[in-house]
This record gives sequence, structure tokens and C-alpha cells, in this order.
Amino acid sequence: MSLSRRSFFKHIGAAGAAGAVGLASGSASAREPKKAGPDDVGMLYDSTLCIGCRACVTKCKEFNDLPFDREILDGAPYDAPRDLSETTKNIIKLYEDGETRAFVKMQCMHCIDSACVSVCMAGALHKTEDGIVAYDKDVCVGCRYCQVACPFDVPKFSWHDAFPLIVKCEMCRHREEGPACAEFCPRDAVRYGKLADLLETAHARLEESPGRYEPEIYGEDDGGGTHVLYLSPQGVSFDDLGLPDLPKEPLPHMSESVQHTIYKGFAAPAALYGLLMFAQIRNRKKDAGKKGDDLSEEGGEK
Ligand code: SF4
Ligand code: SF4
Ligand code: SF4
Repeated sequence: MSLSRRSFFKHIGAAGAAGAVGLASGSASAREPKKAGPDDVGMLYDSTLCIGCRACVTKCKEFNDLPFDREILDGAPYDAPRDLSETTKNIIKLYEDGETRAFVKMQCMHCIDSACVSVCMAGALHKTEDGIVAYDKDVCVGCRYCQVACPFDVPKFSWHDAFPLIVKCEMCRHREEGPACAEFCPRDAVRYGKLADLLETAHARLEESPGRYEPEIYGEDDGGGTHVLYLSPQGVSFDDLGLPDLPKEPLPHMSESVQHTIYKGFAAPAALYGLLMFAQIRNRKKDAGKKGDDLSEEGGEK
């Protein structure tokens, strides 16, 4: 039986809810979901303003010292990344259905209650004071649990390095000016600021132009809320844009709550077993795929 990524998280949500019910009636302590702080920062991406120029992709690479993903198109070399990867922290994708088209920007969502932070035993992935999910390469042990846990499939592993690292957007925390993708977007499709202000702006846009947008803000409470918020053009659902349909409760809240039950009562909640099973299957598939890639790219440059 195959289980898609979307349905997997729905199953986890259901299992987590069942675990929470068990907790409510038992003695195990349920963990409180984490909330955004008043000074937390974030980004608002408005798909209706994006023209797909990919300046954000190029500037992201430039200010994060990442190489271009060269591809020869019509005899000329182009930087043409196709997805997030060990050399691409930010990508623009196109949704197309007949006459309907919309762009979508993908990068780390900086989840308020992050699954990657929750599973990182070494503390390599951690939250900064302003809510950014940051990475400390010096303490990373390369277990790749974060890759398994992330509902957005964001963290990538730099397989080609002698000492592989996790690669993901850190909201340009090394730049005083903030995210390069927001600074260089010619259309203000990406805005950086205080998360609370961005939420206010997003709600104001929905109220002022109800015919322009889908009536919700993705990230306001999806998966417990994210520091990257999305507005989508009317007629293009968040599902169309490739954003996963997550429960309102954060995944770590559910998995850590049932984990406490394991330690207290030695019960084996379905949610945690599901996560572990999914982890094993995906790692094996990636390892198998990687062997193939390494063979085909033998001797090639990164
Ligand atoms: S720079 Fe702005 S308009 Fe251009 S692709 Fe990126 S988000 Fe869209
Ligand atoms: S999107 Fe994934 S990598 Fe980014 S904070 Fe959320 S769980 Fe972590
Ligand atoms: S915040 Fe920085 S690292 Fe993240 S997508 Fe934008 S430019 Fe790239």
C-alpha cells in the first residue's frame, strides 16, 4: 500500500488526535504547543504580485554563497534549479491549469513549533530569539532526522561534501538588511518584517480585495503556524500551490505528547510508530537513489 506525503500527514494528525485523547484521560503530561513571540520576524509571500522573474532565487544564492545549478538551454548556460537542493535554498515554481497560472515560492517555512527542531537531538536546528529556525553546523551529527520530520520536505543534505551538512533557508540571519529574496524582489511579492505586522497586512489585503485572493492565509495556523505566510490568487488553492494540508496542531506537539505516554505507560502510539516507519522507508529510498546518482555523476563537479 502506498501512502502519499499529504495523506501521511493526515494520518499522523488523526493518530496524534487519538493520542491526545488518551493523554487527556491518562496521567501523562501533554506538551503545550509553542507560540510566536511578539518580536518574531517572518515573510509574507503574495503570489498575486509575483511575476516569476526569479531574482529572489539568484540573490538567495549570491548572498548565501551557493553555486548556480547550471543547465544548457538553447546552447546557453542558465542557472536553472528545479527544486530545493543542497545548492538551492529558495525556488520559484509555476502552477498551470489551462488559462490559470500562479507562481509559488518555496523555502523553509520557519514553523512556529518546528518538527525539525523537535527531533534534532544535537540541537543543531534551533530557534533564535526572533523565531528563525537556525542551523549550527558545528554540532550537527548528520542523522537526517530533520529531513524525515519536516512536513514541507525542506532540509537537504550536502551529499557531495566530505562532511555533509544540512542546507536550508535561515532567513538570511547573517545579513543586517534581512532576507535577500525580500530586498531584491522588484514587485514586493516577498515582504520581510515582524510576523504580527505581516499577518495584519495579509488580513488587510484580503479585506480590501476579496475578489483577488483565496479567502485564507496559509501559515496563520497550518501545522501550528509558520513564520512564512502565503496569499494565493482566487481560484488557486494552497493545495494547487503544493502547500501541504496540515492539521492545526503542530506535529511536534502531537508526537512529543504521545512520546511521553510511551515513557510513562509503555504504550506504543500509532503516530510515533508511523513517524519511525516513514523515516526508515524514506531514508532507504534516498540511500538507494543516492547510490544511483553517485554512479552517474562520478567524477563530476558539485
Ligand atoms: S523576485 Fe519577486 S517577483 Fe521575482 S520571482 Fe521572486 S518573488 Fe516573484
Ligand atoms: S519547514 Fe521544515 S525545516 Fe523549516 S522549520 Fe518547518 S519543519 Fe523545520
Ligand atoms: S531568506 Fe535568504 S536564505 Fe531564505 S529564501 Fe530568502 S534569500 Fe534565501
